[in-house]
This record gives sequence, C-alpha cells and structure tokens, in this order.
Amino acid sequence: MSEPVDIVLVYQSLLGIYGDRGNAMVLRSRLAWRGIEARLIEVEPGTPVPAGGAVYLLGGGEDAAQVSAVRALTADGNLYRALDAGAVLFAVCAGYQIVGKTFTVGERDEVIEGLGLLDVNTRRGTERAVGEVLSSWTKPDGTQSLITGFENHGGFTYLGPDARPLARVEIGIGNAGDGTDGAVQGNVLGIYPHGPILARNPELADHLLERALGHPLDPLPSEELDELRRQRIAAVRKAGLRR
Ligand code: GLN
Repeated sequence: MSEPVDIVLVYQSLLGIYGDRGNAMVLRSRLAWRGIEARLIEVEPGTPVPAGGAVYLLGGGEDAAQVSAVRALTADGNLYRALDAGAVLFAVCAGYQIVGKTFTVGERDEVIEGLGLLDVNTRRGTERAVGEVLSSWTKPDGTQSLITGFENHGGFTYLGPDARPLARVEIGIGNAGDGTDGAVQGNVLGIYPHGPILARNPELADHLLERALGHPLDPLPSEELDELRRQRIAAVRKAGLRR
C-alpha cells in the first residue's frame, strides 16, 4: 500500500478569508475519486509546517495577515525544504504576493520582503481589481484551457525574468492590467483569482496533482462540471463587456 498523498493547507487563520480552503478539498477529492488516498493537513503559525507534503496551498488575506504569514513561514523554513524535495506550491492572491520577492502594505506602502520563491514584485495598483476574471492557460500538452475566478486585490504584480505568466487575461485585471495573470517558476505557481479557483477549473487542479505525483492521472467524468463552466464562461463574457 503506498503512502497517502499529503495536501498541506497553510495558515488558514491568516490566509483564509476568501474561501480558498476549497482548493485543498478539491485536490483531496480528485485524488480520492481516483482511488488515491490523500490527507488534508492544516497547519497554523506556532506549529512546524510539515516538510513531507505533496502540494502546499496558500490563500488570500489582508495586508497585516500577509506580513504575519511571511514572517512565520520564513522562521519555520519547512516550506523551502518541501519544495527542494519536489513538492508543488500553489498560492492565491495574498499567498501569491507573499511568495514573491517583495510586496507593499498599508497606507504608506511599506515594502515587505517575501519568501523569494517567485521572481515577482507587488506594489499598490492604480485601481482595486474586483470582479470576475477570465483567462487562458496553456496546458503542458500545448492546448488552451480557460480559467475562471473572482479577483479582489489592491496590489499589482510585476514579473521578473525568472518567472513566466501562468495565464493570459481576456476579462479582468490579473497581475497588473497587462494582459497576464499569475506566475510560474519551477514548482511554484501563483495566481490572483479565488472561487475557489480549483473548484472552478478542475484541469488546473489535476495539473498541480500530476506535477506533484510525477505521473498523469486518469480522467474523471466531467459532463456536469463542463456544463457549469460553459454557463459561467458565457455569463462572464456577457458581463465582462460592462466591466
Ligand atoms: N491584501 C492583498 C491586496 O489587496 C491581497 C488581497 C487578497 O488576498 N484578496 O492586494
């Protein structure tokens, strides 16, 4: 019997206000539906981050909580060790910002050092990005998949040469209103939309799992999800004309 796959949900008390916890539930369920045993491990500041997880998840949160989270993760150090051992990190919004090199907080735009796992820097944007996002992601096989989600962020994120965009934005702001959303660098992926995004975009969920496990996964029935996605995409395109 093989070891269970550990999905580690990091610091929900700090980075848990946008419902991104659902990403962990989606990953665990998509493994369980395939007969692969998975455990959802939740860790809070003050307790060591488990170093042997397969996928680590960071969610959205407010400025002060982001600063606490980055300090606790830096002091803990185990996220770095897990990534060195081949784990995948998927970070949303505030989580995405803190895994970058720097981000700013507060009225005075104080610059805070991030975890430095993605070559990105975040600064206060020219507007707050709030609303549905529709973007296009190029899957590893070269085909395109649409990503839907809901963004709500004041920071704009700029990519350096070591990171590449995760998706191309059709509707919404994304990284900085520059037509891109998210970033990838090695096994670290970050992006703005909530939703939770992995519930809305099961292909992205499977991509994270396949990356973490190092092998392809059997397809799952998708008719119902495909129909929900079709309706969502049509609604966003219609509403997006007014955004
Ligand atoms: N506080 C950050 C910002 O506004 C992140 C917000 C979020 O996680 N939704 O940019």
